Amino acid sequence: MSESVCDPQPTSESDLLPGDSPEATSPESSSESSALDSLDPQRLPHPDATQPFKILWQYTIVLAVVHLIALYAFVPWFFTWSGLVLAILGHFVFGMMGITIGYHRLLTHRGFTCPKWLEHSLAILGICNLQDSPARWVAIHRMHHQHSDHQPDPHSPLVSFLWSHMGWVIFRHRDLDRTSHYEKYVRDLLRDPFYLKLERRQGWFFVFVGHAILITAAGGAVGYLVSGGLMGEALRYAASWAVWAVAVRTVFVLHGTWTVNSLSHVFGYRNYETREHSTNNWLVALIAHGEGWHNNHHAEPRAAAHGHRWWEFDMSWRVIQIMEKLGLAKDVVRPKSMRIDPSK
Ligand SMILES: [Zn+2]
Ligand SMILES: [Zn+2]
Repeated sequence: MSESVCDPQPTSESDLLPGDSPEATSPESSSESSALDSLDPQRLPHPDATQPFKILWQYTIVLAVVHLIALYAFVPWFFTWSGLVLAILGHFVFGMMGITIGYHRLLTHRGFTCPKWLEHSLAILGICNLQDSPARWVAIHRMHHQHSDHQPDPHSPLVSFLWSHMGWVIFRHRDLDRTSHYEKYVRDLLRDPFYLKLERRQGWFFVFVGHAILITAAGGAVGYLVSGGLMGEALRYAASWAVWAVAVRTVFVLHGTWTVNSLSHVFGYRNYETREHSTNNWLVALIAHGEGWHNNHHAEPRAAAHGHRWWEFDMSWRVIQIMEKLGLAKDVVRPKSMRIDPSK
């Protein structure tokens, strides 16, 4: 079974999106042993475009606030079972549908196509994770694929583990601080007025705030109803849903995405001798809905399935398959191993 996956079809240049790199695929290896030793360099300076360092205070403060609110999960008064269930559900609905399927496999890599109303809906779900506008997220990720683990990579762990996890988020990057600076990576997206509008005056951020207010208000209404009209319970449910269904879920999804950049470029095994340090990491695959099979992904970036071996379970791919069966996803790009054996 293992030998069936390790011969990725090099992506033709005409299939490439901005940020895809044709050299990223190398067909020959099936070794699970790390090939990191053969890669160079082993250490990188911070990207030039981050010099001189300047903290992005608006990102830093918003991220600090959402982390602080999430800490209230340790205070029993804020706990409700409904809040916990919504946090888990939200991990799938916002995290998986919005980020891994929407932002990543659809908008960044065009691993499948779908009706515009669905694409926009997935983008809105993605925004509700506080991971930036669709265009900026996609630009950063295409930049990562183009320069993976080389100096311009915005978040390589070869700089430092902490930098790759969240350090890069809070420091200014000159090529990423204005839409006009990263436009070259996302021209396809910005042709759509929907994405352009979300860029203007940080419009996307107000979508996030709006969804947080809606969830909090819904919690208050539910608390009022289940308690037979007690205002104290309405307040407790509202606070509980704000903490669990918004803050805890957002923080969990944030760190899930960040572990793809950090852990999945440091720890794990490699199916493919790609030209960066990407690895397949089961823990990341578990918490980020299949995104942890990151070495497979770097080998065939456009493929909508990231799990290439039978044990590499990829929840996002299962959902894309269901969408395809329902006629909601078309032109689904499969990795070469699945094109050889379509039963996978
Ligand atoms: Zn990567
Ligand atoms: Zn990618």
